[in-house]
Amino acid sequence: MHTGRIHSLETFGTVDGPGIRFVLFLQGCALQCRYCHNPDSWNTKAGMERTVEQILQEIEPYVEYYRRSGGGITVTGGEPTLQAPFVAELFRECKARWGLHTALDSSGFCEASHANELLDVTDLVLLDLKRMDREGHRELTSQPNERILKFAQHLSARGNRMWVRRVLVPGWTDSADDLIAFGRFVGELDGVEKIEVLPYHRMGVYKWQELGLAYPLEGVMEPGPDEVKRAYRLIDQGLGTSHETVQQ
Ligand code: SF4
Repeated sequence: MHTGRIHSLETFGTVDGPGIRFVLFLQGCALQCRYCHNPDSWNTKAGMERTVEQILQEIEPYVEYYRRSGGGITVTGGEPTLQAPFVAELFRECKARWGLHTALDSSGFCEASHANELLDVTDLVLLDLKRMDREGHRELTSQPNERILKFAQHLSARGNRMWVRRVLVPGWTDSADDLIAFGRFVGELDGVEKIEVLPYHRMGVYKWQELGLAYPLEGVMEPGPDEVKRAYRLIDQGLGTSHETVQQ
């Protein structure tokens, strides 16, 4: 049985996939997004070590709630594909024991061929596409985006179902050109069931302070409803009308 490095867990998540969900946050991420609200999840050596069986025991008391609400389990992070064999075993067991719906919340910064076993037991991928231009993406996240865009195309080619998400950060991810390019790219993918614009928020700022890190988006405001609506409009423009966007 595999062990994984865990950051934290929630038993009643409602925003990371359909219904009520068990949400498992894994430790470790190779990106360093300026807006990250979990910078304490970056270090691959921190967190707690847990076996798949230990996580299953945490899930078991709530299984009926998840099933009745049309929910399930979501694994997020950090970046869950860094621990793909652990997550694959966890998802397989959740399905075998309880028939639970499984969702993987990923930045997509993953070598596509390394994730196939995991993707075989994943019902839904919540894929964050942060910015379309390569240099801007590197400035925002510390890494270029080719691997992420390839991963999105890999999911499309395999027939994985996706919700594609975009964090809206004023001055960083809200340019008209990039939002239109995002819509155009997503419009060419198969399997996209939903597009979500997630307004940037500052709830994780205290974690940067606790880690002794300077917060890189000091002075950036959270976007208002009109800015979110504008983002959806621009994405729709890129998308044509081939997908329906769903607002939060
Ligand atoms: S991919 Fe997620 S966990 Fe990793 S740095 Fe970005 S926001 Fe944080």
